[in-house]
Amino acid sequence: MDDLGFMRLALDQAHAAATAGEVPVGAVVVHRGQVIATGRNAPVADHDPTAHAEIVALRAAAARLGNYRLADCTLYVTLEPCAMCAGALLHARLQRVVFGAAEPKTGAAGSVVNLFEQPQLNHQTALQGGVLAEPAGELLQHFFRQRREQHAQAHRMAHPLRDDALRTPDSAFADLPGYPWAPRYVSDLLALAGLRLHYLDEGPPDARLTYLCLHGNPAWSYLYRKMIPVWLAAGHRVVAPDLIGFGKSDKPKKDAAHTFSWHRQVLLEFIDRLDLQNMVLVVQDWGGILGLTLPMAAPHRYHGLLVMNTTLTTGDAPLPPGFLAWREMCAKQPEFDVARLFARGNPHLSPDECAAYCAPFPDKGHRAALRAFPPMVPEHCDADGAATSRAARDFWRHDWHRPTLMAVGAQDPVLGPPVMRALYDVLCPPGSGNPKPLIIEQGGHFVQEHGEPIAQAAVRFFK
Ligand SMILES: [Zn+2]
Repeated sequence: MDDLGFMRLALDQAHAAATAGEVPVGAVVVHRGQVIATGRNAPVADHDPTAHAEIVALRAAAARLGNYRLADCTLYVTLEPCAMCAGALLHARLQRVVFGAAEPKTGAAGSVVNLFEQPQLNHQTALQGGVLAEPAGELLQHFFRQRREQHAQAHRMAHPLRDDALRTPDSAFADLPGYPWAPRYVSDLLALAGLRLHYLDEGPPDARLTYLCLHGNPAWSYLYRKMIPVWLAAGHRVVAPDLIGFGKSDKPKKDAAHTFSWHRQVLLEFIDRLDLQNMVLVVQDWGGILGLTLPMAAPHRYHGLLVMNTTLTTGDAPLPPGFLAWREMCAKQPEFDVARLFARGNPHLSPDECAAYCAPFPDKGHRAALRAFPPMVPEHCDADGAATSRAARDFWRHDWHRPTLMAVGAQDPVLGPPVMRALYDVLCPPGSGNPKPLIIEQGGHFVQEHGEPIAQAAVRFFK
């Protein structure tokens, strides 16, 4: 048998290792044309950090020959030996070592170092690499790919999907521009009843300030990607949940699952769970319609308020005409193109950025929240959420004495300057000492798309 034949036997050992759940590396020792020992990786099973295929094979061969020197032997191994194994192979005084795939991270036969080429260490062992490198390398890649998939599966199983909900596949969110942050999930809040809520949580947990960023319809935490880096660079923590029905959070199949009170309760429990303190509440659109009702429930958690195009829907004043037009559009065209909506109001966005806003909604079934939210805005005094919003209005007028910063996207036809002027009177009554609103002339409804200067102003303002 030649080198290829013996390496195939080593590959058989590698396959056996994979079956046993070990990293698939195999070895055989050949003495005068005869296989006298085999070895495969077994560190996990043997609780032995030294149980690499080469060491296992060397021990068996030495026992078989009754000699710790293996002078007339060749060792075949499917992967380039590490430093430990290279040392052992040199001690054994092998005639030859033949390996398959190179190991760029830990290889001690040429990739990282070459211990076989040190004249002080090696007097006789010849070295050859690259024999059946391809199948050996593929076996390893397949093994690690499978293990990653198993981990992902285990992760999904930790938050099993409810029968009455949908979950946008992770692949929809691959490689989104400007959104590098790791997903985090919670599903065991009482109000969630098992639905999986996604959120970002970046920056030091003990940061002086935590920016809690709440998005609206039809956006998700992607909306804050231009502001988050500014706050992280200033040393702050940023937490940005996706409302249920949006972004990477689970999406109930039925429109009727969505109510004002339920979403508010989810947010309250979420804040409690993360035990957020010294928060700057950052709101826009539904992020404010819901979010502005949160601080009165636990004022001690909040340090300040950054409010962008939004409103308090108290039910005792007519809804703004821009909003009524939006609601009518949504009713007439429930399948409206989310990417196009963002492109229209934000001509500076790339097509990929606009598409990222569409990513959560691969089909009609995933769009229940988009249908449910516009009619859910409290319109009358007894609508769900209206009384809570009136209580919040009292809170902001009389009980809030902390810094408030307002930024207004001037081009917003829905919740633009007139709506924001009215909200300013509530949030920043005369004598409150809060600054005039920051007007973002180019900014539309999704003013966060012009968010860097707003985030920088916040860093200067919230001391
Ligand atoms: Zn090794």
